[in-house]
Amino acid sequence: MTRCPNCSYLLVFLERKRKYKCARCSRLYSQSEIKKVETKQFKEKHILQRIEDKKEKIRDANREYFKTEKGKKALKKGARKYYLKNKAKIRIEQMNYRKKKRAEKVKLAESGLH
Ligand SMILES: [Zn+2]
Repeated sequence: MTRCPNCSYLLVFLERKRKYKCARCSRLYSQSEIKKVETKQFKEKHILQRIEDKKEKIRDANREYFKTEKGKKALKKGARKYYLKNKAKIRIEQMNYRKKKRAEKVKLAESGLH
């Protein structure tokens, strides 16, 4: 389906004028113009599809890898490395989390008293 390069509304082909017309913005396009646009869009779509395929392949490969013993080990090692590197940050996060939970508990107990 051919769409308007300007507003992406559907184009209508005018037999008499041998041109495409947009029903929304009323622009006229020659057949060669539309063909150029279509080719460009087709190529872009194709490239995007290939990028998506590649991403999907990497995701699949990762999923498979982390199922293997080696992958599981690497995952653990990675987590350990991350922890050592971000120890302070993680500790603070844990502290804040506990503080929040405690505050919630106190609130809950208080609301129970009323
Ligand atoms: Zn248009």
